[in-house]
Amino acid sequence: MFFSLSQGTPIVPSGRHFLQIPGPSNVPDRILRAMDHPTIDHRGPAFARLGLAILEGLKTVFATKDPVIIYPSSGTGAWEAALVNTLKPGDKVLMFETGQFAVQWRKLAERLGLVVDFVPGDWRRGVDPAVVASKLSEDKDHAIKSVMVVHNETSTGVVSRIPLIRKAIDAADHPALFMVDTISSIGSLDYRHDAWGVDVTVACSQKGLMLPPGIGFNAVSAKALAVAKTGGMPRNYWDWEEMLKNNSAGFFPYTPATNLLYGLKEAIAMLLEEGLPNVFARHDRHAEATRRAVRGWGLDILCAEPAEYSSVLTAVVMPEGHDADKLRAIILERFDMSLGTGLGKLAGKVFRIGHLGDFNDLMLMGTLSGVEMGLAAAGVPHQAGGAQAAMDFLKAE
Ligand SMILES: *Cc1c(COP(=O)(O)O)cnc(C)c1O
Repeated sequence: MFFSLSQGTPIVPSGRHFLQIPGPSNVPDRILRAMDHPTIDHRGPAFARLGLAILEGLKTVFATKDPVIIYPSSGTGAWEAALVNTLKPGDKVLMFETGQFAVQWRKLAERLGLVVDFVPGDWRRGVDPAVVASKLSEDKDHAIKSVMVVHNETSTGVVSRIPLIRKAIDAADHPALFMVDTISSIGSLDYRHDAWGVDVTVACSQKGLMLPPGIGFNAVSAKALAVAKTGGMPRNYWDWEEMLKNNSAGFFPYTPATNLLYGLKEAIAMLLEEGLPNVFARHDRHAEATRRAVRGWGLDILCAEPAEYSSVLTAVVMPEGHDADKLRAIILERFDMSLGTGLGKLAGKVFRIGHLGDFNDLMLMGTLSGVEMGLAAAGVPHQAGGAQAAMDFLKAE
């Protein structure tokens, strides 16, 4: 039941809710139907076939020949798994303040006893490869055990350029592991675990993979596996070795999220049917249309560096003195659309438009129309015509 803020009367929404937060994203009907089956014996032969098919299919999505480990967890669990398998308390790691998710990952690392060199940032830019290069070349005795980067910073709509960061690590000839959070980029943005020399790719289900929340991933290089063999912290639930032993036959050491795995099989099929390059191009196109809308409204895009614009979401800066959460509340009430809130120090200052996952031109136009009508309803100073600018772009492309 929804209640109108203005009249205090209940509103029963009709039509479909617009879930335009940058994850969880809209779950397509095909995936919902795929999960609507009886839960099967996770030690039986039918499950083994499912397990093997998914473990193989995921390699294409992560662009890797390395194993991709699947946990029944949120993204936070997959973050933790990456660290407990490879690092021990007292180890030094290099991290970057790109936004709230980087802050959260750092907090997790510190709680596990890691010593974090946290490079400050202004939340409008990605990781500077030059800083990576200088930090690592200063580290002559190789005290830094891991470089940890958030690929798509979901709190800001900024993408860090992973291939350039890899080059910086190589240029410094530094042996640190390279770990990348692709939680909100996998399945939406071009990402290549092998070609970009990543040791641990962390991901989860509810963003570009179009699934409900509940599964986490670690793609793991041979180098990371070798480190884990003799290193890391005491662990059980997150242990890679135990997982891989069972995965070789399509099984898991404990009960997996069986029905979510039905959905994952369908998600992989959908991504490969459309073709990953087409999926990425679709995201780029919708992001460009969104930015044209934002400029048309006369508002600012939070990301300050065009080469780092996110095709997953756009964070929009509110005019001084106007509260983003009040705007979001009005848009939810009037148009039954959820937009992303400002996280951490951006609370109230930005709202985030998710344009990822199962999404098309008309869903985007509905989204942008809802924002434009909401800006008017909330009395936020803006120019009309942003949605029109997006439509003109979509028409021409
Ligand atoms: C959503 C998100 C997370 C956290 O994932 P949970 O599933 O909420 O634990 C971490 N990093 C990034 C970049 C995210 O977008």
